[in-house]
Amino acid sequence: MNWPLHAKRVRSSRATLELNAASAAVSPAPAVDALGVCPLQRVGNTPLLRFESLARGMLHVQVLGKAEWLNPGGSVKDRAAFNIIETALRSGALRGKRLLDAISGNTGIAYAMVGAARGVEVTLCVPANVSAERKRILAAYGAEIIWTDPQEGTDGAIRLARQMHDAEPDRYFYADQYSNDANWLAHYHGTAAEIWSQTRGAITHFIAGVGTSGTFVGTTRRLKELNPKVRAISVQPDSAFHGLEGLKHMPTAMVPRIYDPSLANAMVEVSTEAAYEMVKRMVRTAGVLLGVSAGAALVAAEKVAQQAAASDHVAVIVAVLPDSGDHYLSENFWNE
Ligand code: PMP
Repeated sequence: MNWPLHAKRVRSSRATLELNAASAAVSPAPAVDALGVCPLQRVGNTPLLRFESLARGMLHVQVLGKAEWLNPGGSVKDRAAFNIIETALRSGALRGKRLLDAISGNTGIAYAMVGAARGVEVTLCVPANVSAERKRILAAYGAEIIWTDPQEGTDGAIRLARQMHDAEPDRYFYADQYSNDANWLAHYHGTAAEIWSQTRGAITHFIAGVGTSGTFVGTTRRLKELNPKVRAISVQPDSAFHGLEGLKHMPTAMVPRIYDPSLANAMVEVSTEAAYEMVKRMVRTAGVLLGVSAGAALVAAEKVAQQAAASDHVAVIVAVLPDSGDHYLSENFWNE
């Protein structure tokens, strides 16, 4: 199997070495080679799904979605968390410290999952309005959670994490996913390479929502190196108060250090209601249960598809679908 570079490193992980050493003490020559895969080797290499209904009647247009909920922690953020933790373990930045970061949900699950598998203790500052399902998952993985004021969103969680790190720098490694290059590099080496080979280099448009911006920045940077003609479209909520969990309204939010708006050829603003409608439409017509930001990405993808078809252009449109709808089943829009 063609694992991304960063996943291959797991094979020589400390945990694996310790496990091998322990079994070697009992039996110096194992009768059978290690079978199966380490759970962390399942990060990345997600399938590319074709959404035929979004390009119906359009002869030269395909709409594809990267099914990121099939990562082991259930979202695209496994890629960033894995690379952030592996990079910090290699550099020694985590030695004797807990990982600390501010998160909105998926990153927390990803940090907690990778931390559990790699023996790293995790403390997370989380806005208290994340969905009930996420609260339970975070608790299950055993991370230390500090709830922050929902009115202040992720920006409030970031402020608290900074204060905690400033007060006790020897206790915490502040992972700072908004500034950490290992975030976007996970997508530069992983997501982009996968999309390039899965589309056999035919991708024309890349679409992703922007939270920390790691997915958009890393994937776009690499795809544009491979083919400068690839058009990159970022997706943002259409207002400061929105229900697109995981996405930032950049004009009114704290802008991540790793964000580079010059990479985008266009930006599409999507309303929360349009994203909800797309989520319902896809589960009932394509049989795919998407998260809300994935719905927003497909709203933008359908718009791009219609524009390409109207001007008779060939278009291979790839949208990142960050997580699945099972995290959002208690949201009211299902009853409307
Ligand atoms: N959608 C969801 C559901 C997310 O949790 C995130 C991460 N904040 C994103 C989109 C955006 O990803 P990124 O942080 O890489 O911009």
